[in-house]
Amino acid sequence: MMKYVIITENDVSQWKDSTGREYHFPKRYLKYLTKGTSVIYYKGLMKDRSFASKRMTASAHYFGIAQIGDVKQDNDSDKNDYYAEIVNFRPFSSPVLAKQDGQFLESIPTSKIKNYWRDGVREINEECFKKIFSLSDLNDFDATNDSDQGDLESYSRSEGKSKLVYSTKYERDNTLRDKAIEYHGLTCMGCGFNFEKVYGEWGAGFIHVHHTKPLSNGEGEREVNPRTDMVVLCPNCHSMIHRRKNRTLNLDELIILLKTKTPN
Ligand SMILES: [Zn+2]
Ligand SMILES: [Zn+2]
Repeated sequence: MMKYVIITENDVSQWKDSTGREYHFPKRYLKYLTKGTSVIYYKGLMKDRSFASKRMTASAHYFGIAQIGDVKQDNDSDKNDYYAEIVNFRPFSSPVLAKQDGQFLESIPTSKIKNYWRDGVREINEECFKKIFSLSDLNDFDATNDSDQGDLESYSRSEGKSKLVYSTKYERDNTLRDKAIEYHGLTCMGCGFNFEKVYGEWGAGFIHVHHTKPLSNGEGEREVNPRTDMVVLCPNCHSMIHRRKNRTLNLDELIILLKTKTPN
């Protein structure tokens, strides 16, 4: 049976956590955080305003889904702590508030009413997981936009499908995004479209980042080089690259299509 767990990221932490990559935790959570478990990242209410710029909202919220990879003992800790490798991280572009219409999305067992939120790691049921996922923009994206099936596929990969997929998780990693833009600039590498040139100040800084290396099933986390493994594309070109589920175009193929289209 699939397990679903909420993991909390604190603004101030004693751990050397890295969002979407590594999650440290005390031994008592070992039974929840096993390999393959689906997790949702959670941040509690903001306590210190100096963190405002580093968060999506001051309210308690969920901000991404992922899975637990290998779990190891933390040798740097003298308290017998553990850490889990985080795989398939997919951040939400906008937060899912923990409390909606006066009700928490997580159902709190009566036995835990007083101290439920004290636990940073909380097991939830499938229904709750699906509810939070459905409220996220990842769900929107999958439902309304056929252009980035990579998202859906990298998610279902966890559910036993074995095929070569292009993962968009890297495309949503802000650090990698920034680096890719640093190298490649803000002009579409397919068609040359530049948002600032066409839309002025309003379009400045806008571009999609596409990850060009496929991930095969079973392959773990890998190093991504934003210069060689990522390209910048306008949304049209990005959509065309992901047009068909069974095959993702590479940049050269896209450029050939653009050059060979019949002029009317
Ligand atoms: Zn383009
Ligand atoms: Zn892409």
